Amino acid sequence: MGGEKRVNTVSDEKKKLLQKTVMKNFPKIEVHRHLEGTFPVDKLHQLSLKNNLERPSDFEAFKKEVQFPKDSSPDFLAFLTKFRNDWYRTFDDVYFITYHSVKELVQDGLYYCELRFSPEHFALENDFDRCEITKLIVEAGNKAAAEVGLKIRYLLTFNRSKQTSGEMIDLYNRLKALQIPEIVGIDLAGDEINFPPEQFRDFFGLVESDGLYKSTIHAGEVSSSEQIWEAIRNLHAARIGHGTSTIDDPSLQDFLKEKGIALELCITSNYQTGSWEDERNHPIGALYRKGVPVTLNSDDPFIQNTDLTDDYIKAVEYFGFTLQDLIRLNLNAVEASFLPKQEQDRLREGYLQKVEAFKEQYSLGGG
Ligand SMILES: [Zn+2]
Repeated sequence: MGGEKRVNTVSDEKKKLLQKTVMKNFPKIEVHRHLEGTFPVDKLHQLSLKNNLERPSDFEAFKKEVQFPKDSSPDFLAFLTKFRNDWYRTFDDVYFITYHSVKELVQDGLYYCELRFSPEHFALENDFDRCEITKLIVEAGNKAAAEVGLKIRYLLTFNRSKQTSGEMIDLYNRLKALQIPEIVGIDLAGDEINFPPEQFRDFFGLVESDGLYKSTIHAGEVSSSEQIWEAIRNLHAARIGHGTSTIDDPSLQDFLKEKGIALELCITSNYQTGSWEDERNHPIGALYRKGVPVTLNSDDPFIQNTDLTDDYIKAVEYFGFTLQDLIRLNLNAVEASFLPKQEQDRLREGYLQKVEAFKEQYSLGGG
């Protein structure tokens, strides 16, 4: 960019950041994204045709059916019905969709991603071996990530309504025996209304006592902050999935700050699931300014018919987040990541170098 004068005024910076072509290249670190919710729709359509699934063959009609339409009213349980597990017929199908999903992540500006997936989701329809499926997904994801220069780790998702705590323990014991180094955490997801966190104390007590993985719990998304307290105290959550109800509980805010427990907030998803009714008043702005460790994430971009870049643009537009604020959000994500301290330090360093290159490319920040 040679001698071009760098932009210094807030409004010029904001104008640039609101452009999707610019924001998509802003380096991002994401800690809450489901593989099952991030499939490239064209590749899923291909899979659907190949396997003769009862889905529309016309692409536009297909999209309408498999995504949660943007104009539909928010509905948590209707949103969950979009996660269908009958896409796959062979191991190759699972490899194919994983490989292409991970390969696309860099188009959203991702530098590091903790991608979560449920082995049960991918295995259930065909009763595939859960251990083989897990190895295959990590292999496909690693290959795609290496090809595009993405740093990646994985979290194993367990779904509240699909398995009991005892079944989770059995599966977890088999999966941990695989000793896959790229798997760094355990996630609890699914219907938190009918399956509250206290039902899973035994499972997460075991995870905690093993000390092999950290845990993140979807909590306080469409429930009160009581579930967040329960997830932290009795499920030993090191991070909270969503946790939008934190905004109603000042003592919880103080506790999260003191303990450095981060919230994985997702502006678009929180609106579509009915977790938060007004995007422009999403709690991420207020919680960030109160110093609560918050991170910004996409959750399930393919189902939401959106991407992480859209969420970043919303953060700038609705909450006046500056480039510095966006960098802070990502540094929060580094600190909240489930990497060992030394790897976090390397990640931070690499990330900040990427940010410098971004600033240079678009003549942003500093003088
Ligand atoms: Zn989620």
